[in-house]
Amino acid sequence: MITSSGKTAGKVCWEEMLPWEFKEQQRQCPIVYLPMGLCEPHGQISAFGLDTLKAKYICTAAAERTGGIVAPAMGYHVHESGYHAQWLEEVVGEENPHMTAIPPHILYSFFLYQLRAFINAGFRGIIVVTGHAGGNEHDLRLVADSMSQMSSVPIHVVSDPELVQEHYTGDHAGAYEISQLLYIRPDLVDFEYAPLAEQPGSGGMMAMGADAMQASAELGQKIMESCVQALSCAAARMLKEIKSASESTVPAHLTYDQTEKVWRQLQAENVPWIAAKPYPGQPPIAPQSRWKPYEFLKESRRF
Ligand SMILES: [Zn+2]
Repeated sequence: MITSSGKTAGKVCWEEMLPWEFKEQQRQCPIVYLPMGLCEPHGQISAFGLDTLKAKYICTAAAERTGGIVAPAMGYHVHESGYHAQWLEEVVGEENPHMTAIPPHILYSFFLYQLRAFINAGFRGIIVVTGHAGGNEHDLRLVADSMSQMSSVPIHVVSDPELVQEHYTGDHAGAYEISQLLYIRPDLVDFEYAPLAEQPGSGGMMAMGADAMQASAELGQKIMESCVQALSCAAARMLKEIKSASESTVPAHLTYDQTEKVWRQLQAENVPWIAAKPYPGQPPIAPQSRWKPYEFLKESRRF
């Protein structure tokens, strides 16, 4: 990228930018991307950070194509609670899944403050890509919509399977996800370790999908290209929207109090958070399971 001052800038990652590079890139496209994921098991054959890594890849490629800046990736996410709990009982049982999980009431409140940070840093549009999906993306949208209403800043929250739902079906550590990682980080997938699932003390299946061994870098390339294409289009639409909107409606700075007000409103509305309880029809968790305490969030941990 050649800047108006004739200097060359090619960076899109906030963490790597010098102030002049940030200002220039933001002036051209005032959109920030937040990649979200976490460390959770994806079988014995692949790395814990798959969700974060793919979200970061999609955001970075879209920013390189359409413009904007990629915020530091969020490597902690909602897990364990509500619908996650029974899934964990089923796929990891009593094994330690070695996760970077945060309770929803903490994560969603933190997420609100991340959005505040982006608005205060001068962005006029926010795109959130979560690589960890299955319900929490709907909760994130509730938080984002409230912030968007208060600030007049458009906020788009999407999971990678939603980006490509017309062409592919997302999964957990199956052919879809393992292919994604095989394409973007082939060094982090090794099928040779699949037999560890049978070895006592190794953690068992570690939530590997049934068709994981059919994954390929070729399929991963197609999925990721499709994700990047869809996100780039979403960013281009948002940029158009920002350019036609009235700048005066966006507050120059959001305080802690203004942000807390948004959070309190969400609490008062008694929002039906998806990550707070099991899906309708999900079987109950066995009383002796280590995941039982997380099936229904206690009142004190409600929002
Ligand atoms: Zn995943």
